[in-house]
Amino acid sequence: MKPLLAMTLEELTETLAAWGLPAFRARQVFQWVWGGRRTDPATMTNLPAALRAKLAACLPPLTGRIVRRTDAADGVVKLLLAWPDDQTTETVLIPTRPGEARRPRRTACVSTQVGCPIGCTFCASGLGGVRRNLQAAEIVEQVIQWDALPPAGPGDPDAAARVTHVVLMGTGEPLANYDAVVEACRILVDPDRGGLSGRHLTLSTVGYPDRIRRLAGEGIPLTLAISLHAPTDALRRRLIPAAAASTIQELVAAGKDYFERTGREVTLEYVLLADVNDSGRCADELAAIARQLRCNVNLIRYNEVAELPCRRPSDGAVRRFRDRLSEAGVNVQIRASRGADADAACGQLRRRAGTS
Ligand code: SAH
Repeated sequence: MKPLLAMTLEELTETLAAWGLPAFRARQVFQWVWGGRRTDPATMTNLPAALRAKLAACLPPLTGRIVRRTDAADGVVKLLLAWPDDQTTETVLIPTRPGEARRPRRTACVSTQVGCPIGCTFCASGLGGVRRNLQAAEIVEQVIQWDALPPAGPGDPDAAARVTHVVLMGTGEPLANYDAVVEACRILVDPDRGGLSGRHLTLSTVGYPDRIRRLAGEGIPLTLAISLHAPTDALRRRLIPAAAASTIQELVAAGKDYFERTGREVTLEYVLLADVNDSGRCADELAAIARQLRCNVNLIRYNEVAELPCRRPSDGAVRRFRDRLSEAGVNVQIRASRGADADAACGQLRRRAGTS
C-alpha cells in the first residue's frame, strides 16, 4: 500500500472505501495530518476507535522512529530517523535566531537517499556509499516530523510554528533519485498538503545537465543550487567523482536553460577548502563562470570531518574570496554556518551514531 504521506485525498478516500468507510472519514484524516500536522492516530479524536487502531497498524502517517536528537546551542536541532528497515536518515531544523530576520524562518534540511553514491572527497555523506533511495513519503516525512513534534513544554513559543523553507541538501544526491524527489516536491508545494511556497524550496545537486533540463519542465518553481566547488573541470573531477560525466560548460548551459524556462536564478554553491580551491586565481576563474548566467554564488565554509584531510580556510581568506567575486560584479554571499555542536554538518550524526 502507498504510504499515507504520498497519498492524494482521492487515493486515501479509495483506501478507506476498501475498508468500508465513507469519504468523509478520509477528509477527516487528511485534515488532521495536513491541516493540523497531527500524525498520531490516537489523537485523532473525531475518528472511531477502530479506525484509529487500523491507521496505527496499517497506515501510520509517520513511519520513521526518532532514535536520536541533538540540540545545538544556536537553536539548530538534528533528528536521526530509523525507517522500518532500520536504515537511518538525518534531518536538520535550522530556525532563524531571535532578531535575525524580520519574518522568522524555520528551514528543514532533508536527505534524499540513505548514504550517497557520489563520494565527494571532502564530504562525510558518501563515506559509506549509498544504501538505498528514500521514497517520496520518507522525504516529505522529514519535514512533517518537525511540525508534528510535541511542544517542548507549556508555553513553548515554537509549538505552533511550522517549517517555512525546505532545502534538499541533506545526505544523498536528489537527481540520482529523480522520481521520488520530484514527487516529494509536488507534495510539499501542494496547497492541500505541504502548503509550502515553491520559492521556499531549494534542491542542491552535483548537476546532471539532462536531469536539470527535465526538472525545469516539471512546473515546480523551486530554486536550483548547483554544487560547483571548483572553477576548472580538472579540479572539479578531483573533488566530485560524478563530475567526470559532464563539464562545467555543460552545467552552465543547463543552468542558463533553467533560468530561461523557470525565471528562477540559479545558485552556484562553492565549498571553500583551504589551499585546494580558495586562491585568488580560483576566485577569478569562478567569477568568469558566474558572469555567464543569472546566478547567485553561495560560498560555504567547509565543516571539517574527522576522517577527511580537508580544512576550513580562515575567515579572512573566506572574506577575501568573497570580495574578489563581488568586485568582479558577481552576486555572492557567504552561507551562515550553523549547528556545529549538533553534528549538523553533512552526514556526521549518522556516522557518529554508527549506523552508516
Ligand atoms: N548531493 C547534493 C546535495 C547534498 S550536500 C549536492 O552535492 O549538492 C549539500 C551541499 O553541502 C553540497 O554543496 C555539498 O558539497 C556540501 N557539503 C558536503 N559536505 C560538506 C562539508 N563537510 N562542509 C561544507 N559543505 C559540505
